[in-house]
Amino acid sequence: MATISKTAATKKPTVHKGNISPTEFHDFFVDELKDIYWAEKHLVKALPKMKKAATSPELAAAFEKHTQETQVHIETLEQIFELLEEKAAAKKCGAMAGLLEEANGIIEDTESGSMIRDAGLILAAQKVEHYEIATYGTLKVFAENLSRTDIAELLNQTLESEKATDLALTGIAVNTINAEAAAE
Ligand code: FE
Ligand code: FE
Repeated sequence: MATISKTAATKKPTVHKGNISPTEFHDFFVDELKDIYWAEKHLVKALPKMKKAATSPELAAAFEKHTQETQVHIETLEQIFELLEEKAAAKKCGAMAGLLEEANGIIEDTESGSMIRDAGLILAAQKVEHYEIATYGTLKVFAENLSRTDIAELLNQTLESEKATDLALTGIAVNTINAEAAAE
């Protein structure tokens, strides 16, 4: 049978007075918003580079579209910070930094004008989208836990946008690029 450690048993519960005093969970939520804010701000700068590197006009157009959507994701996060009466600040997201580094590596390692380049760019972009889907899915639930349905709704809009991008990238890969890359 497990025994409760003295520290855990004697630890005083956090007392929150009133609705406005920030709770630990609220602070954690804001911190994670700052993390994805950094991620989106860096992604919006990386996407034009990915567009330029793409071989097929279809993939280039998808990156162009997602650049504009990412700008909206940034603005949505700024709106959320405002609703929370928090300063919109970016906190380095190591995961996105790594994913973008990987995208750069794919551009360096593949030949310009090849379909293998595009297959690689889609791989990198889908890793980014999946990271964003995981993040926004969790943050949306956090907002619900904090009884902020207004913020949960905004996070859900971005979540749906990321899912649509992921599906669009799968479509491009399956319909044309992968077969052509395999034939190169
Ligand atoms: Fe995004
Ligand atoms: Fe995205």
